[in-house]
Amino acid sequence: MKKAPIIWLNVLVFSITFAVAAIGVPLYAMTVGISAGIWWAALALFVFSGLSITAGYHRLWSHRTYDAHWSVRWLFAIGGALSLQNSALHWSSDHREHHKHVDHDDNDPYSASRGFWYSHIGWMLREYHPDKYYDYNNVKDLQRDKIVMWQHKHYLKLTLLMNIGVPILIGALMGQIIAAMLVVGFLRLVVNHHTTFFINSLAHIWGNRPYTERNSARDNGALALVTFGEGYHNFHHIFSGDYRNGVRWYQFDPTKWLIRGMSYVGLTKNLKRASEYQIEKARMEVLWLRLQQRQQTTAEWMQHEYDALLEKTKAYYLSRKKMLDVKTQEMKDQVAHSALVAQYQELKHSFRQEKRRWKRMVRAAL
Ligand SMILES: [Zn+2]
Ligand SMILES: [Zn+2]
Repeated sequence: MKKAPIIWLNVLVFSITFAVAAIGVPLYAMTVGISAGIWWAALALFVFSGLSITAGYHRLWSHRTYDAHWSVRWLFAIGGALSLQNSALHWSSDHREHHKHVDHDDNDPYSASRGFWYSHIGWMLREYHPDKYYDYNNVKDLQRDKIVMWQHKHYLKLTLLMNIGVPILIGALMGQIIAAMLVVGFLRLVVNHHTTFFINSLAHIWGNRPYTERNSARDNGALALVTFGEGYHNFHHIFSGDYRNGVRWYQFDPTKWLIRGMSYVGLTKNLKRASEYQIEKARMEVLWLRLQQRQQTTAEWMQHEYDALLEKTKAYYLSRKKMLDVKTQEMKDQVAHSALVAQYQELKHSFRQEKRRWKRMVRAAL
C-alpha cells in the first residue's frame, strides 16, 4: 500500500526543536552558562502551557466536564497556543474522535493499536486523513465559544507570539536573550510536546486497567507526575465526563485540583463527576470478567454472589449519597442561620441606638 504523504512542516518543527533542545541547550549551558532565572521562567511557562492543555483543551473543551469564566478560557487559549499543538477546536475534534473510536486503526487519529511511534508522534508526520482534516462536525458546541473561535482564527499569530515573542521578552528582561530562546522557547516546548504525547502513547501501553479492559488505556501514577494528572488514563477513558482523572483524593492530579480550586472562587462551576456507584461497579466488573476468563465457566452460585454484591453496592452508595446530600443541606441551613443571626444582631443594635436618639430628641423638645 502506498504510504501517506509526509507533512514536511511538522517533520521540520518536531526535529529542529528536538535537536536544538537536545544539543543546543547543553552546549550553550556548558560554554556560556544559563542563569537560574531562565530555568524558573521555563518551568513557569511549562506549567502554564501544560495545564492549559489538560484543564483547557482536554477537560474543558474536549469533554465539557465543567464550565469556566471567560478569563480562564482566555488564559487557556493563550497557554494552548504556547504549547504548539494546534488550536483548541482542532485538538478537541481529534480528541473526540480518539475517544469515540479508541484503538481503531483508521478512525482513532492516534490509535495505540498502530504502535508506540504512531500514537506518540507518527500520526502527525503524514497526511493520514486529509479528507477529515477540516471536518469540525463533532465540535459544533465549541464553535459557539467566542474565545475558542478567536484562538482558532488567530492561531498562527498567537503561537508565534507566545513561542518566539515571549521568550525574547523574558530574555531581554533578564539580559540573556539567546539562553531564553533556547530554554524557555525550545527546551520547554519539546518537554511540553512529549509529555502530552506520552498520554496518547505510553498511557495506552504501560500501566494497569482497574476500570475497564475494553480498550488499551492504562492507569499509571508515574506518568501522572509529568502529565499534570493525565496518567490515570484508564479511568478517563471510561468516565471521560468526569473532571477528575485521578479519581482518588491522593492520586496526583494537579489539573483536578486547579479546576476544583477555581470553583471555590467562582471561576469554574458545574464540575461533573461520575457516580461513586458506577465507579465501584466498573472496578467489580473488571475483576468479575477476569475471573470468568480464567475459569472459563463460572459456577451458578458465584453469579448469584456477584449479583447480590452489586445490589448491596448500589444500595450502599445510594444511601451514602442521600446522607451526604442531607449533610450538605444542613450545612447550607447552618450558614443561612448564622447569616440570619448576624443580621438580627446588627439590626437590634442599630434599632436600640435609634430608639435612644429618638427619646433624647423627644425629651429635649418637650
Ligand atoms: Zn486515550
Ligand atoms: Zn480525553
